[in-house]
Amino acid sequence: MTHTIGIIGDGQLALMLADSFKKREQAFFCFSENENSSMELLYPQQTLKDAQLFRESCDVFTLENEFHTVQELEELLLNKKQTLFPNLSSYGHFSNKIFQRQLFQKLEIPSPIWMEVRDPDLTKIYESGLSFPFIVKAPAGGYDGKGVRVVRNPSDFNSVADDFGLYHGKSLLVEEMISIKKELAQGFVRSEDGSFTLLPLVETVQVNGICQYVYHPAPVSQDIQKQIEEILKKLMKAPLVGIFNFEFFLDDRERVFINEGAPRPHNSQHLTMDASTFSQFDLVAMYLTPQEKIPSKLETKSSAMINILGRSEGKEYSLRLPEISSNISVHTKLYGKNKCAFGRKMGHVNLVDENQTSNLREIALKIFKEYHI
Ligand code: ADP
Repeated sequence: MTHTIGIIGDGQLALMLADSFKKREQAFFCFSENENSSMELLYPQQTLKDAQLFRESCDVFTLENEFHTVQELEELLLNKKQTLFPNLSSYGHFSNKIFQRQLFQKLEIPSPIWMEVRDPDLTKIYESGLSFPFIVKAPAGGYDGKGVRVVRNPSDFNSVADDFGLYHGKSLLVEEMISIKKELAQGFVRSEDGSFTLLPLVETVQVNGICQYVYHPAPVSQDIQKQIEEILKKLMKAPLVGIFNFEFFLDDRERVFINEGAPRPHNSQHLTMDASTFSQFDLVAMYLTPQEKIPSKLETKSSAMINILGRSEGKEYSLRLPEISSNISVHTKLYGKNKCAFGRKMGHVNLVDENQTSNLREIALKIFKEYHI
């Protein structure tokens, strides 16, 4: 069956999805509201700005963020034949961090102690077992740590509550601050008929809420790997249909907590583009047009990914990496953004250690410290 895929969004995840669809000669369009997006520059023929035309031109839709309401997506699906990957009911759990916590609680998956706060009365927070310092999150619209704050005292709480709109009717997610030893991530792709592909377990290193680099294999015991796999199996059985990636905390007592999930490809899985037989983006293409045999587990070589975050401002920019004296293969992907800005995700570098003879962490750190863009 040939059909046309609609990508909702025009950022780097949309771009890498488009690359996989193009490689597989899969027809697609993307919907872009922005001028000069990378999608528009690189795929001008496939980039549509007219919402109605986009809706009419595609049979199946997929997305690159969770910022749309379920109602907006429902309106996009013109008729019963059009579908969304992830499906709507799975997506609905992830459009808001509080909905996610409710799902995790229902499935008995350990997460930090949390509560939804609708008024500034701190006594209710204390009663739920939380004490300073705790974490406050905006339930929707946050990414890369924007919308996440550590709160150390009542006056901090008041200013964060104000920033996140508590006094204008918005609720907050307040949660226990975990003493994090490691951050981990893993996900899966799953179809309506129950077949699935497990993505690799990775370690992510975050600074101020932004992922700096990612390693595979994650340096954790088999027991921790198993615990995470069991959690993913519960989520699959929920049942979730689509591609999902989850972030976990491992605390200093070796306990695993789920933090959050995303119903889409994820930064933590970019190393699959060079270290696995198929990338996370290829898998979306394969699940949308199931013509080939899809593995139930994605085998992934020893690898690292370094996010290239802007270190200058301006339209003219180029990436310079330090010399690496090692037989590691280095793969650079720039996202073609129209300008560079401090901290903006401009691209990533994947390192693959075919022979497992090099110190990947040392090399990743060298690249991270010394790249210029
Ligand atoms: P975002 O959706 O912006 O990525 P996250 O919930 O992933 O927000 O939080 C960003 C980072 O903040 C995490 O990777 C982690 O380093 C830190 N963080 C988030 N929640 C907690 C918590 N409960 N305890 C300790 N650190 C946390």
